[in-house]
Amino acid sequence: MFGQMMEQPLLISSLITHAARYHGQGEVVSVETTGGVERSTWATVERNARRLASALGKLGIAENDRCGTIAWNNRRHLEIYFGVSGGGMVCHTINPRLSPENLIYVITHAEDRVLFIDRTFVGPVSKLLPRLTTLRHVVVMGPRDEEAAGLIDGVLFYDELLETGDDSYEWPQFEETRASSLCYTSGTTGHPKGVLYSHRSTVLHSIGGNTVDGLAIAARDTVLPVVPMFHVNAWGVPYVVAAQGSRLVLPGPHLDGASLVNLIQSEKVTLALGVPTIWMGLLAALKEQGVTDLCLERTVVGGSALPPSMIDAFRDGYGVELIHAWGMTETSPLGTMNQLLAKHEALSDEEKRKVRLGQGRPPYGVDLRILGDEGEALPWDGQTQGKLQIRGHWIVDRYFGADDTALTRDGWFDTGDVATIDSDGYLVIRDRSKDIIKSGGEWISSVDLEGIAIAHPAIANAAAIAARHPKWDERPVIVAVKAPGQEVEEAELLAFYDGKVPHWQVPDRVVFVEELPLGGTGKVLKTHLREAHGDILLKD
Ligand code: AMP
Repeated sequence: MFGQMMEQPLLISSLITHAARYHGQGEVVSVETTGGVERSTWATVERNARRLASALGKLGIAENDRCGTIAWNNRRHLEIYFGVSGGGMVCHTINPRLSPENLIYVITHAEDRVLFIDRTFVGPVSKLLPRLTTLRHVVVMGPRDEEAAGLIDGVLFYDELLETGDDSYEWPQFEETRASSLCYTSGTTGHPKGVLYSHRSTVLHSIGGNTVDGLAIAARDTVLPVVPMFHVNAWGVPYVVAAQGSRLVLPGPHLDGASLVNLIQSEKVTLALGVPTIWMGLLAALKEQGVTDLCLERTVVGGSALPPSMIDAFRDGYGVELIHAWGMTETSPLGTMNQLLAKHEALSDEEKRKVRLGQGRPPYGVDLRILGDEGEALPWDGQTQGKLQIRGHWIVDRYFGADDTALTRDGWFDTGDVATIDSDGYLVIRDRSKDIIKSGGEWISSVDLEGIAIAHPAIANAAAIAARHPKWDERPVIVAVKAPGQEVEEAELLAFYDGKVPHWQVPDRVVFVEELPLGGTGKVLKTHLREAHGDILLKD
């Protein structure tokens, strides 16, 4: 016997339709690529998204065709998200900081038919075009621009393209399991791999990730996704805010601390989301500008390990609650988010802080486990660490174009992370399995060592890497950036570890550098650091 309730497919178009119907005048604020702030509404974004879907159809773009974007977080990019997916095509967001070879690879592998690019990328993309053979159209995201027209033959302009779309276009209805969007992993080793999300996985992620114990985004919030729209769909935030009808602020190309402080304060942002490196820049700018009264209420931090000192810096300095989250491209990305339980209320501030430092618990819809080397399930005691595996409604099954599933035989996805889980289901990521430091057969968490270095007042940022060692195989080395105007010696920084980690985990060396190499999503590229400094202990 079947239930006798309405059945509607979970489609991305239903999110934007809801925003337009119930929050039509809700504001979408967008920093323009060419400067200035533009104000729009959910009603306009929805109308433009429909016009875009219609215009793409007239251009001959068919269902399931991939449409690439190389763009910042802005209003047009938002309309492309909804117009392309809502119209039954696939929105392929591309990280602009991929190497030229990888850019060509992902566009060709995805067989993108259309490429939407922000003005910033006209020059670089024009050079690659002879090798982008799958493309039929390049669309510059803005009004007509003669200089761009001179660089790319037959280029289209977004604002003109919209004019060719029908206002009366209605969102098509189709199976919710159809593909909606495509995002490639960063591919620090080998080729990037594509994760092809479905309408169903995206809508369920938007509902499941936004519980009160999750992102907790409400209509009354003003939300600033600093996380790029090419980084796992800006962690799904554009879909969540459409479902909630929140006010949305899109930061455009300038993600430095000073620009973000200005935007947060002038637009009265209540919730901002981004990777730790972004917040390091923000905290430095706040200090520099002497801002004490920040309108931000909460910030979601994820994407790489959270330096412990950041929780205190936000809370004590500015009264901002930091929510630590974990996820990956393959998990849409929300895997866990950290909110406290009633029983934690009785804990001391220090103990609460310890709980908050971890990556938190999964929302309904995803399930975790940790396994030992022999594939045995490990206890959830908060101590025993093992391979983290995940399954659920918005977790990858197979990579785009791959013949085989990416899952274990019993249907779990191996994350490549090493973690502990405690009896309440709180996850702590100890390391990426390829970043963990194996010293004489014992494991040292690079995350722990980085957190300590970053807590030193003279250090702006730091990474811990495994350096080759003749006796211990690997030993930890810290690569650190000094805070502006600060001085610290290697010996002093090493002494800072005393009492904070067991003696044998204290790093062997510190290398001071001007800056750490960051990937397109703001994560430290440890492969580069290992190449540059991995032999330092062999030379000593
Ligand atoms: P990406 O697919 O590029 O988003 O990278 C996913 C990886 O980033 C995960 O497998 C983790 O290793 C790392 N990561 C994401 N969030 C966190 C976090 N909160 N703490 C530590 N590592 C994280």
